Amino acid sequence: MVNPAPWVVHKFGGSSVADADCFRRVAAILESAPAGRLGVVLSACKGVTDALLRLVALAERADEAYRGEITQLRARHAGIAAELLSPEAAQAYAAILDNDCRDLAEVLRPVSSSRAASRAVSDLVSGYGEIWSTRLFQRFFGERARRPGPVTWLDARRVIVAEWGPLGPGVQWPESQARLREAVPADCQGTLVITGFIAADARGVQTTLGRNGSDFSASIFGALLGASEIQIWTDVDGVMSADPRRVPDATVIDALSYNEAMELAYFGAKVIHPQTMAPAVKDAIPIWIRNTFAPEKAGTLICAQPTSALPIKGITSIERVALVNLEGTGMIGVPGTAHRLFGALREEGISVILISQGSSEHSICCAIPQEQAQQAAAIVRRAFEGELAGGQIQSVDVDPDQAILAVVGDGMAGTPGVAAKLFTALGVSRVNVRAIAQGASERNISAVVDGRSAMRALRAVHAGLYLSPHTISVGVIGPGTVGRVLLDQLTAQTALLRKQFRLDLRVRGIIGSQRMVLADTDLTARDWRAPYEASATAADLKRFVEHVRLDYLPHTVLVDCTASAEVAAHYADWLAAGIHIVTPNKKANSGPLEGYQHLQTARRAGASHYLYEATVGAGLPVVHTLRDLIRTGDEISGIEGIFSGTLAYLFNVFDGSAGFSSIVHEARQRGFTEPDPREDLSGMDVARKLIILGREMGLPLELGDVTVESLVPAGLAAGSIEEFMAQLAHHDGAMAARLAAARGRGKVLRYTGQLTAAGQATVGLQELDTRHAFANIALTDNIVRFATRRYCDNPLIVQGPGAGPEVTAGGVFADLLRLAAYLGAQL
Ligand code: ADP
Ligand code: ASP
Ligand code: MG
Repeated sequence: MVNPAPWVVHKFGGSSVADADCFRRVAAILESAPAGRLGVVLSACKGVTDALLRLVALAERADEAYRGEITQLRARHAGIAAELLSPEAAQAYAAILDNDCRDLAEVLRPVSSSRAASRAVSDLVSGYGEIWSTRLFQRFFGERARRPGPVTWLDARRVIVAEWGPLGPGVQWPESQARLREAVPADCQGTLVITGFIAADARGVQTTLGRNGSDFSASIFGALLGASEIQIWTDVDGVMSADPRRVPDATVIDALSYNEAMELAYFGAKVIHPQTMAPAVKDAIPIWIRNTFAPEKAGTLICAQPTSALPIKGITSIERVALVNLEGTGMIGVPGTAHRLFGALREEGISVILISQGSSEHSICCAIPQEQAQQAAAIVRRAFEGELAGGQIQSVDVDPDQAILAVVGDGMAGTPGVAAKLFTALGVSRVNVRAIAQGASERNISAVVDGRSAMRALRAVHAGLYLSPHTISVGVIGPGTVGRVLLDQLTAQTALLRKQFRLDLRVRGIIGSQRMVLADTDLTARDWRAPYEASATAADLKRFVEHVRLDYLPHTVLVDCTASAEVAAHYADWLAAGIHIVTPNKKANSGPLEGYQHLQTARRAGASHYLYEATVGAGLPVVHTLRDLIRTGDEISGIEGIFSGTLAYLFNVFDGSAGFSSIVHEARQRGFTEPDPREDLSGMDVARKLIILGREMGLPLELGDVTVESLVPAGLAAGSIEEFMAQLAHHDGAMAARLAAARGRGKVLRYTGQLTAAGQATVGLQELDTRHAFANIALTDNIVRFATRRYCDNPLIVQGPGAGPEVTAGGVFADLLRLAAYLGAQL
């Protein structure tokens, strides 16, 4: 006799058999599978196992509603059958349903009277889902008759013998193998439709393989049938780098080793049951995870030695865990403490998910399921009663609401830097790590974090390990002259940043003085003006900040494009809360020194970044140049320059041919001045910039320390803008005289600012040589000259356009990118 073709086992999860359409889809997939013998393991229809367990819970509360729910379950299955089967087959199926529902009601009646269900009862009840789905599919697939050979129903309780132990269900292989031989003759052909999830114990009593156990059923049958391959069909494209419901940027992993898959499954990747691997490993059967709803996609291959270039495969989390921490100097060098701790937990059936012990043996901690936290605290305190009383152990703490984050990948062994990246990503996202464990295999690094930050941690680590883009939640305050241009620049650039650098700058809010717009997706992905201008939401800065700072996004930055002292007054609170700030607004940095110092403290407390390059010289690299000089150990002896684009323009143009006031008029018309030109002419703007640079140098300067020569004539400081503009012409004579005097000495007039290392700060009109660098700048250029120990013979000069919305917004944008780099993006 020729050898029969090998078996291939396919398993379809609950979501793949949710309704009639799903059954059709499953049939079509099987019909297009290569010729050969098929073992088809099915879960219960989506939600049915939960519904069955709810029946037990209702009965235990003596709530008669369970009867109605049985009727609903029956109706759901009969409905699918009516759609898919011939009338005769549907009728035969309905008869089975009726019978089963009667049995169910009978099993639940005593539960309702005694208010208690044994494990045997809930196992029995919860297993009906698989019986119903497979009996239905076997009829349906048989009636379609599009594959050769008979379609036979196989009740797994006849084959799998399993006993529950401390590690979950254990398969008794020799007995199961013997039963399979009886149930499935060696020359069996065609298709076997097999119930997932259920099994029987040695006495023949029904048991289950645990929640999500149908994956396990599939691999058990794979091993028993000697299958060449196991295909697990589900509702995602394969095993993904993280749970796609929690990390939207998760990607499909092409191949995993059994060990990697096991670690991912153990640490919460729900897509596959952790025990699925053992039978497949034993016989080296490859497992494919594939999508029922997109069968054309390749899926994920799980096998012994996959070829994959990725050192890190995925990140998972287990939520709702509690951390048990045993601490005491009396444990040092005392053997057996760990044994007693875990022994006590084991005796009460509490499973330990993760263990970590410091090398000093001063403390041991472990993570356990949250529901058992109270029980665990009591047990451990009892077990160490003597030591607690005697003071050898100082405390037993149980902290609920923690989460475990696990990074998995075979390639981490021997790849330095993975742990560093992991903890950097957690650190910059302000996620506090409570405990760490790394297996000696180096296949897994896990960290216990506060449950509330689990989502943020997952996303930050996923991005930090380059598995997904770095997402930064951005809020733009003040879509005015600069803010508007910044938003346009972002609109033009973000797609490219995402593609080239995997950086996702997501503008999730824009707030003006009247209204604001809040969004979850990036407002600059399309035209941001339309939603902003149409928004009926009144501006509310507090709500705005709460929205932009989403807990699950790792990083938040507020970009303040206003010139408002009121907005600046919030910086300290924002920084302390870990929100980063980027701004061209000078108010905070040039306000009272105490407030400035407070900002630095807040920034340190919140481990946040505060970037303000555009406060001096717009987009020119002034603040950073100064910072680099100082940090690399250069000594600044002085900084001087022309720091105001407006005043630069006025004196570049003022040659005596027209009155000074008419130049101010013209400049105002061309938009080169503030609406009220006195703000420029007073010199206070220049004074503020000197203060910012001085403080950067560590000088404790206050605005009042700057000697400022104002160009606003005495008597014109108050009054309306129009009055001022009208009156200014009366002072043209004085200005013309100053120009003539300077010219007489072969000089020109320039409005400059100077700062010395000793903290002397002066702002005002200066007569300069015609060949002086400051005398030869164009239009609204700024020029800043740094005299330092290194740059002494020839000073370092930064020069270029220092005003205007385009260059200022560009400077703010550059700060945003700098921030992204600080947070780990590779730009
Ligand atoms: P089935 O009903 O097919 O057994 P499950 O709901 O048990 O499906 O498992 C599939 C689900 O697992 C997916 O829809 C997905 O939301 C979730 N999941 C969690 N972690 C991962 C991961 N790392 N990769 C893929 N899916 C995951
Ligand atoms: N139906 C069972 C459950 O929901 C088993 C499975 O679907 O894998 O847990
Ligand atoms: Mg599943």
